Amino acid sequence: MSEGGHMTGAVAIEGARERRVRADGVELCVAELGDRAQPTVLLVHGYPDSKEVWSEVAVRLAERFHVVLYDVRGHGGSTAPKPLRGGFTLEKLTDDFLAVADAVSPDRPVHLVGHDWGSVQGWEFVTVERAEGRIASFTSMSGPSLDHMGHWIKRRMKRPTPRRVAQLLGQGAKSWYVYVLHTPLLPELAWRGPLGRRWPGMVRRAEKLPQGGYPTPSLPTDAAHGAWLYRDNMRARLAHPRDDAYAHAPVQLITPLEDPFLSEQLYDDLESWAPRLTRRTLSAKHWIPRTRPDQLASWITEFVMATEGGRPAPTATGKYTDRFGGQLVLVTGAAGGIGRATAFAFAEAGARVVAVDLDAEGAARTAELSRLIGAPESWAETVDVSDEQAMEKLAEKVAAEYGVVDVLVNNAGIGLSGSFLDTTTEDWRKVLDVNLWGVIHGCRLFGKQMAERGQGGHIVNTASAAAYLPSRSLPAYGTSKAAVLMLSECLRAELAGQGIGVSAICPGIVNTSITSTARFTGVDAEEEKRRQRKTARLYGLRNYPPEKVADAVLRAVVRNQAVVPVSPEAHGGRLLSRLAPRALRALARLEPPL
Ligand code: NAD
Repeated sequence: MSEGGHMTGAVAIEGARERRVRADGVELCVAELGDRAQPTVLLVHGYPDSKEVWSEVAVRLAERFHVVLYDVRGHGGSTAPKPLRGGFTLEKLTDDFLAVADAVSPDRPVHLVGHDWGSVQGWEFVTVERAEGRIASFTSMSGPSLDHMGHWIKRRMKRPTPRRVAQLLGQGAKSWYVYVLHTPLLPELAWRGPLGRRWPGMVRRAEKLPQGGYPTPSLPTDAAHGAWLYRDNMRARLAHPRDDAYAHAPVQLITPLEDPFLSEQLYDDLESWAPRLTRRTLSAKHWIPRTRPDQLASWITEFVMATEGGRPAPTATGKYTDRFGGQLVLVTGAAGGIGRATAFAFAEAGARVVAVDLDAEGAARTAELSRLIGAPESWAETVDVSDEQAMEKLAEKVAAEYGVVDVLVNNAGIGLSGSFLDTTTEDWRKVLDVNLWGVIHGCRLFGKQMAERGQGGHIVNTASAAAYLPSRSLPAYGTSKAAVLMLSECLRAELAGQGIGVSAICPGIVNTSITSTARFTGVDAEEEKRRQRKTARLYGLRNYPPEKVADAVLRAVVRNQAVVPVSPEAHGGRLLSRLAPRALRALARLEPPL
């Protein structure tokens, strides 16, 4: 083994120290970042890749950990075995891993992280006896254990049900490239020829990768050598999977839901192989180390810290914990009603919550309760969403202190009822300022941060069924909400290409205190009070809980839904607005029952 402080690889990772580690018949190119006294996180790349795929994740992790990456044999700056055939077996790859782990962290087990084939290898390391005690935790992304997969296929062949056959065919279709890689010579010729030249552009476009240093110039050689990863292992292991492939360390499984190569169902039975399992999902394609480095660094950090601290790793007990755990969620109008219920639902899913409201006390209470419910961190901010400067300050503060928001919920809103002719310009201004401008400010400021970060996100705007149900008594409120609906649709179209979803929620009649604060125009104060009381009674009788709206908000993000009517009357109204708009116009003329 030799050690040197210089960069020999094709592409430098900022701040990395490079060294070479000798293993069975090859010399591995190893890069190290961060403080060696800290726990070691060891990152293994996939196919066709080199260690640089991890560069963005590595620099983020290096703030807290000793981070180690190496080029798999035959890739990047590592030498290739001779001959190639038989040189890439999982046994040999395990030798390499152990040699690197012994070199960089001789006295402590490492926290292993693998992507794609790096994860396939990782499963081998974490399930074979000779690596027991050398792995403290394993984070797996987009690369199943070949043993588990072999059993998965066998089970489905033995007891085929229509669903199981569909799963087999589905995964079979996604694995088309595996068959191609098994053909002799063809992959090598393609990679060293046209495919090698075109691949960087193809993957950049398909995955919308940010620019910079990736893939590396060694790609054609990496890809040609790496074909042996498949040839040396796939057929043999899938046909004869090991029966004892149980994980000897806690495992965190990160599944990108839009991965074109792997179906989610592959992991259905994973708990039986890895009982200490934490599941995470995210809305992304295959190359998440490039497209979602912030999210990965945060999940890896949380998992490593939990394991190091002897705490049980966060487990997916809440409905959406796998999706929102550790994410930063900002909710406006969070002091009560739908906003508070939404903040709580995200807190239950393990998100970090910023509760924003005009009502400082209410927002503080929401933040406090969010922590008790499950948010690892939560904060309250007192801001008037209609105040542009205050919102700008909020956006700056949140970015500086808590990070870029993953999910923004523009929910703050006020009610206003009364005929158009009784509505003053001042009334109009107020309702548009909060209901529309508040949403515009939120989308503009936080949406810009999301877009600039380039790692996706989601914006939820609380519109209303009044956005598509005309009414003689809600001209200003309905107009503000129709504008929110259209703004959401336009923004959704604009941001779709950047992995940022936009949803408009249309709740219907929900039992919150909006009725006691809603204003009624054209009547004196006493009559206004009477109407508020009467509306509150009506809403109370309807008694549709804000928690159901909160549930719809989380579902809308998970499913990336565009327009989401919530209560039955909101659904019915939406249907009527499409099928029988004339009937709605007739209903709109009726005097409100107040
Ligand atoms: P709510 O009155 O219980 O909650 C609204 C919250 O927004 C309050 O905490 C209030 O302090 C806050 N807020 C008001 N103006 C603000 C401002 N300028 N800046 C910051 N915060 C402000 O009402 P809710 O029913 O929970 O309403 C939430 C959203 O849902 C609103 O946009 C509302 O229009 C919409 N909505 C409600 C219903 C319903 O039936 N309750 C139906 C459809 C849509």
